[in-house]
Amino acid sequence: MRPNVAIIGAGFGGLCMAIQLEKAGIRSYTIFEKGADVGGTWRDNTYPGAGCDIPSHLYSFSFERYSSWTRRYPGQPEILRYLEGCADKYGLRPRIRLNTTVVAATFDESLGRWRVRTTAGDELFDVVVSAVGQLNRPQLPDIPGMSSFDGPAFHSARWDHSVGLAGRRVAVIGNGSSAAQFIPKVAEVADHLDVFQRTPNWVIPKPDSAFGPGARTAFRRVPFLQRAYREWVYRYAEHTLHPALAGGWSSDLLRRRALGHLREQVPDPLLRARLTPDYPVGCKRVVIDSGFYPALTRPDVDVVTDRITRIVPGGVETSAGLREADVIVYATGFETSEFLTSIQVTGRGGRHLAEEWKDGAEAYLGIVVPRFPNLFLLYGPNTNLGHNSIVFMIECQVRYVMGCLPHLAARGPMEVRPEAMATWRRSLDRAMEGMVWQAGCTSWYKNAAGRVTANWPGTTSTYRRITRTPRPEAFRFAR
Ligand code: NAP
Repeated sequence: MRPNVAIIGAGFGGLCMAIQLEKAGIRSYTIFEKGADVGGTWRDNTYPGAGCDIPSHLYSFSFERYSSWTRRYPGQPEILRYLEGCADKYGLRPRIRLNTTVVAATFDESLGRWRVRTTAGDELFDVVVSAVGQLNRPQLPDIPGMSSFDGPAFHSARWDHSVGLAGRRVAVIGNGSSAAQFIPKVAEVADHLDVFQRTPNWVIPKPDSAFGPGARTAFRRVPFLQRAYREWVYRYAEHTLHPALAGGWSSDLLRRRALGHLREQVPDPLLRARLTPDYPVGCKRVVIDSGFYPALTRPDVDVVTDRITRIVPGGVETSAGLREADVIVYATGFETSEFLTSIQVTGRGGRHLAEEWKDGAEAYLGIVVPRFPNLFLLYGPNTNLGHNSIVFMIECQVRYVMGCLPHLAARGPMEVRPEAMATWRRSLDRAMEGMVWQAGCTSWYKNAAGRVTANWPGTTSTYRRITRTPRPEAFRFAR
């Protein structure tokens, strides 16, 4: 039996899933994509300077290595071209429905199939794979008076390129990884830039550089070289960065690296003090950037730490007075803890996923949820990383889904047992105990109740091991 598979989203996850189905000769799938093209977050985030702080050779599929990366760290246009190239090379486009939003998915128990409702109508599928990502819904802050602002205002993930910033006063609210990337670019053209910082972030340098023609030719001609380089980057992240987040040997090293970077790049002790976090490094996502601090030291840039009280027609009012602005950019992150609850997902017994997850999203291995048969999540709860490439995790999850397909073909819809889920929850809680994300800071890794629902606490090699082969005893089958 060839399952009919609905894939939601055409970013890294959705494309990876479709490619593996193609490779297995399963062409009975449809990718529903709400946007106008493939690429997911790399289609949406077009702000100036957008790029990835994970090295290019690791931030790509292991089965579709790309030797011609132009930089050590890829820019957004190059990642998007890579993903578009994958869609073309594997002939996925005929099965992608663009501009089609999935609004609901309901498991029909009598048919043992999912009824997927999109903006284009209803269809039945055997399997639903959610590949909507964790960072796909921009979060605007709830600041009084936002609609009263006189000038243009937009979120960093919906950059309005029609708004010229040259010679204008720009206010940026937020200072996370996105803001750190575009602030240097905006500072170059704006007349004045105010960066509104609520909490300072730890920042470490990004040792970016271009790969010259020689290096690119070597990567192309000597596949071993590319494999070895990728492996080296992966192992470095795994063995040096992960222990730093787990209270291990490199925690202090990372802290000293960040403090040294701050000292080198910010000579003014007063500004330095305001940029120094008071929580352990890694508790919030570490910013990896070498251009951020220098931009903040420019005479035409101010780091504003006074509390924002409201937005007024002429700018941003703080506890210390008005900061005039012509344009406001909200670099305020994403709605992360709801996962796919923007889609109404109804499982067996009429259970709503949003209701099941009201105290925090959770899934066995981050992939499957009790009472939701044949529903698989890519980049689901507790599978985000603070230290390595998410593409690696997605590949593990896709391999797991592929491993489940023969089981569900043979024995009907499969659903993870609540006991397996409970055991998983306990082991996750134990692993989470030593992680730095639990220290006293707020971050998008946690939900409103303070539970870390975004991140995977282990190493990625552990995750690969435990997701390598589905264990049938963890599931209940219809037959
Ligand atoms: P973010 O890290 O969630 O940062 C949001 C920023 O907005 C924070 O500085 C936050 O302050 C601030 N903020 C939120 N609400 C506010 C309010 N009401 N008033 C004042 N400030 C407010 O978002 P992001 O920078 O878009 O990054 C999100 C994630 O995307 C990153 O953590 C990373 O995982 C990913 N990303 C990755 C890359 C890459 O190169 N791989 C690049 C960009 C983004 P507080 O800290 O005080 O909450």
